[in-house]
Amino acid sequence: MAVQPKMKQAIFLVWILLVPAGMWFTYQAFPPHFSGQWWDLLAFLTLTSVVAFMPMVINNTPIFLIQWVSLATFLSFGLFIEMIFAQAAVVLLLLGLRVQKEQYFRIPLNLIMFFLVSLLSGVVYYSLGGQTGPTLINDPHAIWLAAVYAVVNYFLNQVIISCYLYFIYKSKESYFGKDFIVETITTFITLPLGFVLYMFYNQQGLLALLIVAIPFASLSIIFKLYYSSEKINEYLQKAAEIGHQMAERLEVDGVIDLFIQKLSEMLPVDYAYIFDVINEDELQLVRRIQCGTGITTETAKIKKNQGISGFVWEKGKGCLYHSKKEWKPYSKGYLPDDAESVLAVPIVRNKKVIGVLLLASKRKRAYEKSQLMIVDILCSYFAVAIDNAKHYELTKTQSERCALTKLYNYSYFEKLLTEEFDKLFHFERKVLSLIILDIDHFKTVNDTYGHQSGNEILCELATRLNNLVGTWGTVARYGGEEFVVLLPEAHKEEAYQMAEMIRQSIANWPFILQQSLDFKQHQVKITASIGIATAPEDAEEPLALVRHADRALYVGAKRAGRNRVAEYSSC
Ligand code: GH3
Ligand code: MG
Ligand code: MG
Repeated sequence: MAVQPKMKQAIFLVWILLVPAGMWFTYQAFPPHFSGQWWDLLAFLTLTSVVAFMPMVINNTPIFLIQWVSLATFLSFGLFIEMIFAQAAVVLLLLGLRVQKEQYFRIPLNLIMFFLVSLLSGVVYYSLGGQTGPTLINDPHAIWLAAVYAVVNYFLNQVIISCYLYFIYKSKESYFGKDFIVETITTFITLPLGFVLYMFYNQQGLLALLIVAIPFASLSIIFKLYYSSEKINEYLQKAAEIGHQMAERLEVDGVIDLFIQKLSEMLPVDYAYIFDVINEDELQLVRRIQCGTGITTETAKIKKNQGISGFVWEKGKGCLYHSKKEWKPYSKGYLPDDAESVLAVPIVRNKKVIGVLLLASKRKRAYEKSQLMIVDILCSYFAVAIDNAKHYELTKTQSERCALTKLYNYSYFEKLLTEEFDKLFHFERKVLSLIILDIDHFKTVNDTYGHQSGNEILCELATRLNNLVGTWGTVARYGGEEFVVLLPEAHKEEAYQMAEMIRQSIANWPFILQQSLDFKQHQVKITASIGIATAPEDAEEPLALVRHADRALYVGAKRAGRNRVAEYSSC
């Protein structure tokens, strides 16, 4: 919906050429009914301004309930004065909505629209025989003509807005949706008020303005309160829903992704940062999202009480800034230059701050106090979900991996092997190869350098295996000093090549020991014997594949002199 700079210039130009000249024409063609009641004019202008300054915000759309005041102004003072007041109302309304600099073109855009609406509906009214001024009170047709005026005025307004959306904002969405219906109903409900104001004003003078305006203003405030409480209710409901969804995610990254995604859907978020408390006085940036894309390279650390996040951590309370001016003095410099509004909340678990969430928007005044509360609630859901996910990930690792080498353990390997065989049975895989490796004379290494050194070798070997196998297959610790490598889609020759590479990388590069019995560094040369078998040619079920690879290892490699690779042969 970005409007091109050329279009913006054109809008300013059209305004300069059209509106002042048009007003002069209106003044000449339809002179105002005015005989020095300056106080009355001022009172009407004040009423217009007050009403324009309090747009009713329904479903995030500000509704401009100014038509009834315009109607009374038009009927009392004529087209020219109504036109001037409508222009003033537009400027006030847009100032009230705190339009950003790059959106300033909206002021002439709306001024042109209101000028056209005032002029055309006024001309229609006058050409139907309608009159303006204080004499209408006794005219029975006046109320019907006034109604025609109001309807023409309203629909012209809507037609021009939809033209603007289509031609200037290039919006493809239909404008005549739910918001349109709400606006039409509220406008027509308030219109008779305009006629009442006109009648009353001409009988009672300025007192009428107070009598009519006070109930309207109260109604407007009640509406505002009602909708804001409804909005909070809606937010709370959404927050609970997001809490449930986060609880269902099992991985820490998944929880963080969902959290950021849902926050961005609920609030205007251009930048998001999540910090973890890593020790007594340091925060670590764990996630940084800029305009929808995650950036993970940064490893910024922040001390307690430093910057906005450090401050939020120290206080244990959220904070809200409406513009850059407010937070700039505290910033640590990681926020981009175009960030304006900032909302930061501590992430609390068991009464302890475990992290900080910071959201920023390029818009000024993007966040409200009620949103701070909602984000606070969401953060407590987030803290619980993260805790659960961390616990789950830890339990999973512990049950699947060997504590010493961090390789997959035997039970994980067994599960994987069964799954791979299932794929073989369902023709999702053609072949599957298995490599089994056993270190030669490992007992001697233990006896010479100590058990601790033996462990060092096992860890180093695990690293070498992982590096060699990479994404070709899965490495697991089968038991003691025996390892397995499962290679899906690898034929026997390929498995043989891989096994030979593994054998050489063990035999050719000594292992360095740091923790031997004599506290000296040692280089130890070891070798390994390897057996391989391939399914379906060597085995038709998981255990047979293991048995046959094991047999190749002991009969073909160990017995034949060790430090060699042997493949299974059935004979
Ligand atoms: P070979 O296989 O060549 O026949 O001889 P070996 O000495 O390796 O014999 P075997 O496979 O029977 O012995 C395995 C040895 O590995 C016994 C045990 O002390 C050692 N071992 C098993 N698990 C571990 C472990 O976790 N850490 C250490 N340091 N040693 C282990
Ligand atoms: Mg062994
Ligand atoms: Mg051995």
